Amino acid sequence: SFPRQIAILGATGSIGSSALDVIARHPRQLRASVLAAGSNVDALIALCRTHRPDHAAIADPALYARLRDGLAAAGLTTEAHAGDDAIDALAAGNTCDTVVAAIVGAAGLSSTLAAARAGKRLLLANKESLVLAGELLTREAAAAGAEIIPIDSEHNAIFQCLRSCDARLEAGVRRIILTASGGPFRGRSRAELEGVTPAQAVAHPKWSMGPKISVDSATLMNKGLEVIEAHHLFNIPGARIDVLVHPQSLVHSLVEFIDGSTLAQLGLPDMRTTLAVGLGWPQRIESGVAGLDLLSQGRLDFEAPDLDAFPCLRLAWQAMDAGGSAPAILNAANEVAVSAFLQGRIGFLSIPALVEHALSTLPYVAADTLDALLAADAQSRQITEAAIARLPHV
Ligand code: NDP
Ligand code: MG
Repeated sequence: SFPRQIAILGATGSIGSSALDVIARHPRQLRASVLAAGSNVDALIALCRTHRPDHAAIADPALYARLRDGLAAAGLTTEAHAGDDAIDALAAGNTCDTVVAAIVGAAGLSSTLAAARAGKRLLLANKESLVLAGELLTREAAAAGAEIIPIDSEHNAIFQCLRSCDARLEAGVRRIILTASGGPFRGRSRAELEGVTPAQAVAHPKWSMGPKISVDSATLMNKGLEVIEAHHLFNIPGARIDVLVHPQSLVHSLVEFIDGSTLAQLGLPDMRTTLAVGLGWPQRIESGVAGLDLLSQGRLDFEAPDLDAFPCLRLAWQAMDAGGSAPAILNAANEVAVSAFLQGRIGFLSIPALVEHALSTLPYVAADTLDALLAADAQSRQITEAAIARLPHV
């Protein structure tokens, strides 16, 4: 019901900015009551001036005084908070009924889980939390009655298509087809990927996104994470999830039903559409995004992904099939490798090599507790950092 009080975790990022854009279009129905960020305190204060939330939180505790003083200097009554625990408490607290989980990486797990346990409506962009702890997160959300609305465009498309029938998958879904743009290096061979730069990797042809997910799109790890994400969100085995490269990025994913129907969701590549679905659901609300002009688009192409040039997608399938802590190991190694690549410390082809190294070195354990998953995450970060230190410098 409206008005909705919304916490945006990762407010200063790409998803955060799209969410705030949609919220500002609906002043009577939607309100940003909590804004949280990692360390960009000036950007957070600027957002508070515009959106006037009740609470603002910065993850880095050393920045508390700067946030508090900046809010006061701006004449705002917004209350300042700092530290991961403060963000978790706000995500679970009574100043919001909806949480946009848009922190990047495993750093988003704790607040996402807190929101789920508190029974919030969870608009989930942070796919890494599902990769790392999908079973735990979906179990706890179900137990607390927290509704998860996927914000990732593919999963949001599937969410919409599944609303065409009894949503229980066993009932009628034959398979899910995730589409992938193919990223900036689509069509290149493995040899042609040697020496690509961070600037080239983050220059996505269709989507404007934060740096980490942009690199994941370039390696196709993003699609691998999304296969695992779909498996948990829709409770469907990996064998019934397919990936198709679709360079126009207009068909956001498809669901094939047992009667031979295939439903798809189409739209321009703009995350404000999926955020509007989540923010308004079950009502449709304006997002500021235009409809599709299919006549001028002309055509929709589809091709199979190239697993030799982009082994990250294959590695993610392997980790999902292995289960237990394997996806957590994959995700953590990837986060460390992507960050090293963005810093110019390793080459592009070292990303899959490092992920493979972590997956083949560490044991897979059962993953039924948060502690076991976080331990696997930490071990994987450690051995990946150690492996980077041994690599020839690029
Ligand atoms: P950005 O890099 O643009 O933004 C990341 C946000 O997370 C920033 O607000 C950042 O704050 C905050 N943050 C980083 N570390 C921490 C931390 N330790 N504690 C609290 N906040 C932190 O990322 P995106 O918006 O692109 O992506 C966010 C998530 O959404 C990712 O999981 C991504 O996979 C997913 N997603 C994104 C899509 C997109 O179109 N961008 C599409 C589908 C999914 P600060 O600015 O202070 O560093
Ligand atoms: Mg996606």
